[in-house]
Formats: sequence, C-alpha cells, structure tokens
Amino acid sequence: MEIRKQPGSVIRHEVSAEDLALINRLARASLTGDQVYTFAIRLCDNEVDRDWERFDERSLEKLSSLFVGKSGIFDHNWTAGGQTARLYKTEVCEEDGVTLAGDPCRYLKGYAYMLRNEKNQALIDEIEAGIKKEVSVGCSVQKRVCSICGEDHCGHQGGRRYEGKLCYFTLMQPTDAYEWSFVAVPAQRKAGVIKGFSADAGGLRRLLAGHPEYLEQWEAMEKEAELGRRYMTGLRKDLVRLAGMADESLDLRIFARAADRMEEAELKELTRVYRARVDAAYSPVTQLKPRCFTPQDDEDGAFRV
Ligand SMILES: [Zn+2]
Repeated sequence: MEIRKQPGSVIRHEVSAEDLALINRLARASLTGDQVYTFAIRLCDNEVDRDWERFDERSLEKLSSLFVGKSGIFDHNWTAGGQTARLYKTEVCEEDGVTLAGDPCRYLKGYAYMLRNEKNQALIDEIEAGIKKEVSVGCSVQKRVCSICGEDHCGHQGGRRYEGKLCYFTLMQPTDAYEWSFVAVPAQRKAGVIKGFSADAGGLRRLLAGHPEYLEQWEAMEKEAELGRRYMTGLRKDLVRLAGMADESLDLRIFARAADRMEEAELKELTRVYRARVDAAYSPVTQLKPRCFTPQDDEDGAFRV
C-alpha cells in the first residue's frame, strides 16, 4: 500500500567535510562546499498521526536506508525549472517524550543538498526564509497492523477506544520510499495526505452505496466524529505536556495512560490546574520548554512549523 505523510519540516544545516564526501559520492562529482547548499528535514516520526497511523522504530530505520539518494519534489513552478534537491544522508533521531503509543519519540531526519547556482537561488531563498517548510513523504509499506487486534483489515476504527485502549495502526515493513516533497501551503494540513488504500470502514459504506442520500449523511457524521476524536486527543496531549512541565518527577507514560481514560470535563479541569502551576513556576519567563509531546526544535537551531 502506498502511504503519504506530511509531518515534516525544514531544519537549517551547514555542510561539513563528511557531508561533502557523501554528496560527491552520490553526485559522482567533486563539488566544493561553496557549490552546494544543504539543509535538513524532518521526514517523518513515530507519533500516532492525524490518520491514527504511525511508523514504528523499525519502520523508521528501514525508511532511513530507503530514502538515501531520493530526490525532493517541489511544486510545479520549480519542477518545470528542473530544480532538484537530493537526500545524501538520513538518520533516526531521538527526542524527548513518549508517543501516544507509549514509545520513546523518534524521528527520521534527512539531509539534502542542492547545487548553489542561479537557477536554484530563488528556491534556496525560500527555504532560508522559511517559506518552504512543510515536507511530505511518499512510501509504500507491506503491513498495517491494528493496535487492538493485530490484524491488517478489521472493524476497529482508529482513534476510538476499545475497553480503554486506543486504536491506531502501525505501518510496518516499508518496501520503497518514492520521494519527498515540499508542501506549498502549510495551512492546508490535510492537503499532502494522499493514500493508495482506504481503511476498511468499507462494510457500511458498501451497504450505503445504493443510497447516496444516506451515504452523504453518514460521511458527514464520520467527519464530525473524527473532529471530535481529534479534539479529545489534542486536549489529552496538552494536558500531558503541561503536567510534564509542572511536575518533572511525573512518569509521563503512566500519566498519559490515565489521561487517555479521562473525559472532556476532567481533562479541562486538570489542564486548568496544571496551567496555573506552570504559569506560577515559570513566570515571568516567556519561553517555556515543554518536556515532551511537542516535537522539539532540532539541535541545529531549527525552525519548524
Ligand atoms: Zn483491529
């Protein structure tokens, strides 16, 4: 199945001698540091995403090797001009915190190079200025495994809870990485997410296929339900993040599990309490450093969206 994910972002990166050696091996040239422009991108991570899917660490490792040498795609204006950037190095990086699935946070970082020439300069400027920030990746995986039953195709719905346990799907055994691309309009968060398969909410949809008026209604309800699930996930994440900031000794994994079972009113009340604590502890410092659940800026002095 084909997968497209859009969690990524650009990170500033300076070229080193080691980088240059890798680039030259790939480019079959002997370029100097002045001739190339390099930057790093956050390709994907192991967090459960808005589609209730996640890569596990093993998948990230596999993707890491699959992405080396792969070219980036820009929007039409750029592609027509023949501008290209290519990944010359990738690595799976650790970051603070745990995912919704309870795993330590990991992300796949890619290092890309472009030739510094007139043709590429405008694009380089856009990357530097932070206009080109969001990245999506396309790859294919062999398996998609339900967190509830371990099956590939089942009746469970991502984002729902079954006896308190969150349902999400783990994307496993990547077989190919096609490309990565810059997403033109970061605000359209859903825009980059295109998939070659549909999760099997199929039964009901097939049943309703002969009744377009109901199908439409059902789809509208599904959409609303999905919004509701995302809203609750957002509340839970905020709470866990705040709790982590307010109380360094808290075991966030256990706390996150508790938060998973809370309803809206409880989440809001606890969030209020922890926010007050955080405000008291950190004021008047404006820059708070969350302990987890928010992707951290990279050590390269990064910016991300
Ligand atoms: Zn299942």
